[in-house]
Amino acid sequence: MTSGKGSAGGGTVTPLRRKRKCPECGRPSERLSFPFCSPRCKAVDLNRWLSGSYVIAGPENELPSPDDEDER
Ligand SMILES: [Zn+2]
Repeated sequence: MTSGKGSAGGGTVTPLRRKRKCPECGRPSERLSFPFCSPRCKAVDLNRWLSGSYVIAGPENELPSPDDEDER
């Protein structure tokens, strides 16, 4: 039988005090558009995502084989 020991999570509240830099322009981020400095930078970042500039880092298995057309 288990003894009464409620494992309630502690009430640790971490205040958002850490200043973050805008990944877009490097300016201090604003709370409104965290982690960006402005909605504009946020849009820019989002746009980049949509345009596929961000490449998903994964295993590079599909490298073009050089031995495709070898004249030998
Ligand atoms: Zn910015």
